[in-house]
Amino acid sequence: MSSPLNDYLSTLQPIRDPILLKMKDYAVQNNIPIMEDVSMAVLLSLMKLKKPQTVLEIGTAIGYSAIRMAKACKECKIVSCDLDEKRLAIAKAFLHESGFSDRITLIYGDALDDLAEIEHNAPYDMVFIDAAKGQYEKYFKAFSPMVAKHGMVVSDNVFFRGMVPGIVQPTKRYRTVINRLREYNEYLVREEGFETTFYPIGDGLAVSIKTD
Ligand code: SAH
Ligand code: MG
Repeated sequence: MSSPLNDYLSTLQPIRDPILLKMKDYAVQNNIPIMEDVSMAVLLSLMKLKKPQTVLEIGTAIGYSAIRMAKACKECKIVSCDLDEKRLAIAKAFLHESGFSDRITLIYGDALDDLAEIEHNAPYDMVFIDAAKGQYEKYFKAFSPMVAKHGMVVSDNVFFRGMVPGIVQPTKRYRTVINRLREYNEYLVREEGFETTFYPIGDGLAVSIKTD
């Protein structure tokens, strides 16, 4: 969500890496919703503290967040899944160009249908949910059992354009998505075995830490 605070924060830590800049440019030109850098910064600092060895990402797009996570976490291996074949092909090229192909494994398919390969690489120290906004509860239910003890699930866009908290009036087009995200946020709070904190940054980030 664009806000004076987010705008200010994004000027503090501008991206300078040429490949990342190229990816951001590609995303803008092709209307691909990559994660905002201000919330990415929070995610990466959590990763630097937690040092996950294994990460599952639901929603690769062109690999922007995957590459940023791999850069921040020198030892971690990332499995990232997307059902959009064209985007995954672009992601593959960018991974190759950035030299992270060996630490990021791409899986083509619907995360909810093609669980076998995702399951095969489990458990994960961190699961990052950033795919279809109306499906978050389904992803959480499918993948939170694959989270290692004291691991975490991070969900992006949980405040979707400020519409979820009602800062911005939900538009008709997004009504269902907004209702589902509201239900999801409440579900996260209720969910036993996880403690969730919401970060009002970027498009809203929920960090759910596995407690048992
Ligand atoms: N994490 C990326 C952005 C992901 S955009 C970044 O910040 O760089 C969301 C992606 O989720 C889209 O590319 C879309 O194709 C994918 N997606 C949507 N539903 C999915 C599903 N059920 N399984 C796998 N990928 C899905
Ligand atoms: Mg996102």
